[in-house]
Amino acid sequence: VALGLASTVIAAGACKSSLPEPPANRAAWEARSEELREEIKERLGFTHLPERSPPEAVIWGRLEYSRGYTIENVYFESFPGFFVTGNLYRPVPADREAGDPPRSRAGILHTHGHFGAIGTLVRSRTSMIAACATLARMGAVVFTYDMVGFGDSQQMKHPDWDHDPPEKSIAATVQTWDSIRALDFLLSLPEVDPARVGITGPSGGGSQAMALTALDPRITASAPVVMVSHIKSGGCPCEMGYVPRELSDGTMEIAAMAAPRPQLVVSDGGDWTHDVPHVEFPFLREVYALYGAAGRVSNVHLLSEDHDYGPDKRAAVYPFFQQALDLDEQPPPDPHHFPPEDVTLPGDTLHAFDDDHPRPPHALMGADAVKAGLEAYLGVPLHLN
Ligand SMILES: [Zn+2]
Repeated sequence: VALGLASTVIAAGACKSSLPEPPANRAAWEARSEELREEIKERLGFTHLPERSPPEAVIWGRLEYSRGYTIENVYFESFPGFFVTGNLYRPVPADREAGDPPRSRAGILHTHGHFGAIGTLVRSRTSMIAACATLARMGAVVFTYDMVGFGDSQQMKHPDWDHDPPEKSIAATVQTWDSIRALDFLLSLPEVDPARVGITGPSGGGSQAMALTALDPRITASAPVVMVSHIKSGGCPCEMGYVPRELSDGTMEIAAMAAPRPQLVVSDGGDWTHDVPHVEFPFLREVYALYGAAGRVSNVHLLSEDHDYGPDKRAAVYPFFQQALDLDEQPPPDPHHFPPEDVTLPGDTLHAFDDDHPRPPHALMGADAVKAGLEAYLGVPLHLN
């Protein structure tokens, strides 16, 4: 079966793009999907993955809220000398003394995207807290972790959008490996059910969600927010660095690699996801239909909204995960202004490192040291192009 690309001119706007033809049959799609997966792995340096153990995480600073969840600070080693930093949101069990029975909770990874100045603790923004807290209140264990160069992840700088070409940055490799390790961590928690594991995040976080879902079959449900597009694969080397060159105009086929696992695509009228209802979503549905699973992919399109992580974007994700991961009913819609009345989070509360929990002294510091450590770990030279 030929898998050539058909040139299509999109009528709207000045944009021209190559759109893939919908695959002819399931075997054709699986061959295409495998071809893409191999190229993504090669671009990231994941051709011979080292054996690994579950991370030995440091979990500290438990905060408990009356609305039925806790937040803890977490760090663990992604590869020798490099640390993933984040927050763990957990539901409070009905019977606190009994704790959660083994494997009784769904697990969700949450990725924050570039919604804040580089270097800042974006996961402490109210929109991010609201999303994680709501999913925890619905019964999920949620882990949200810093992009490289944000928050407590200060071992190398985040790439410069204007000056760092994707092929010169190791950010995509580091971030995708961090995601794989974040998933290792989530699944190492005794209460998390490996049959119910999701990932969601907006914008660059949507890119991370698509990358991990495409590469890792342990993800069972995915909800990329404001990022699935046939005309744009990102803007930052941390997201574009994993995208096969022939797909550099868009990530539609990468999103399709989630099939037949449940997927929600959240899009809006004000950014590069504006065509989703009539371009990307129909393509996804055709791929899912090859598995008899057209009903497992859905789209919430917010026509009058822009590129953000506002309440309507987040509210779209809750019922999706409720169904896909068998969560509890969603609580009353999260307030536009979070935290709720019972919570006032001091600015430094959500840090993974502080004076009493410092970054371990063997941490690699600077991009050159991180790159050398990662190359030694993966056994391949990076800068693949
Ligand atoms: Zn980035």
